[in-house]
Amino acid sequence: MSFSVVIVAAGGGTRAGPGLAKQWRVVAGKPVLRWSVEALLAAGAREAVIVVSDGGEPLAEEALSGLTGWRTVRGGATRALSVQAGLGAIDGPPDEPVLVHDAARPFVTAAHVAALLATLAGADGAIPALPVADTLKRDGPNGLTTTPREGLWRAQTPQAFRRDRLLAAYGAWSGGEPTDDAQVVEAHGGRVALAPGDPRLMKLTYPEDFDMAEQLAGGTRMTRMGQGFDAHRWCPGEAVWLCGVRIDHDQTLVGHSDADAGLHALTDALLGTIGEGDIGDHFPPTDPKWKGASSDLFLQHAASLVTARGGRIINVDVTLICERPKIKPHRQAMRERLAAILDLPLDRVSVKATTTEGMGFTGRGEGLAAQAVAVVEL
Ligand code: MG
Repeated sequence: MSFSVVIVAAGGGTRAGPGLAKQWRVVAGKPVLRWSVEALLAAGAREAVIVVSDGGEPLAEEALSGLTGWRTVRGGATRALSVQAGLGAIDGPPDEPVLVHDAARPFVTAAHVAALLATLAGADGAIPALPVADTLKRDGPNGLTTTPREGLWRAQTPQAFRRDRLLAAYGAWSGGEPTDDAQVVEAHGGRVALAPGDPRLMKLTYPEDFDMAEQLAGGTRMTRMGQGFDAHRWCPGEAVWLCGVRIDHDQTLVGHSDADAGLHALTDALLGTIGEGDIGDHFPPTDPKWKGASSDLFLQHAASLVTARGGRIINVDVTLICERPKIKPHRQAMRERLAAILDLPLDRVSVKATTTEGMGFTGRGEGLAAQAVAVVEL
């Protein structure tokens, strides 16, 4: 889909500290503005209009040297006037989608653009937004009060509109200085729809934001993989715990804890991603504290170690190896249980099962084995 871009780079940005305005400063070897322009052109923008303030043209030339498909236009005294100047400078069909973006949000991607354009198809505007997760406080004359956060969203940019729709809304706007473009369309009776926001669409405002951006951009994130294996012996019983699910069965697995081999293998896989030894190092079988323990605890602990290292789990995959009980009827419940323990979406959690065709200790029914792999991003 054809679309154009207006990038507002006219701000003075004094809150980010002394020196150059933030859009011209360098993050991970690149001027802040260049991150957005490169990404939006690579995402298919037909043209990019960069709105600059007085004297910004040579700075833009320097920041964007070697890139084509962009040009500058002089902005106004306010952000709203700058946006309108940018919109007015765009050629092409009047109803073509336009993305209005703040230069101070460097980490826009083609995926963000695709989501916005898809969302715009059924609305007058589309904005990336994140639900408010923190408790909101208002510091008033009578002290702090708590504001309900239900239904509250943090709007980010780029924001997508049909250009003629946005221009008409700005033409009718009389509400003072809007804090984003969607506000103007909303006031004009337009329906603005939410697209998924992204913490990486953060706005660089304060000096410490640049440190965070440097880390985000530095490419220091690393994908790690770990694998785990476990086996337990069968004995007569009433039920067996596998992947956090209790299954009625005429046998049970012998072990110090609940002997959930699926959870044990997965715990070892997670520990393996961060080189943290194995489950026995963290929960010694000699320690009476873990006698009969629910293995959920072991997996939660391994996940918390990954989180403590700044990591996040990408996906996990467990294979249970036994002749009996039949795993398939319980597989979905197992996935749901693992997803709940690890706080992962279901499609990143896999549980599989196989027999060994009567061969080996699992085939002879002496025991059950489990294998697992986990992938994390650190
Ligand atoms: Mg075990």
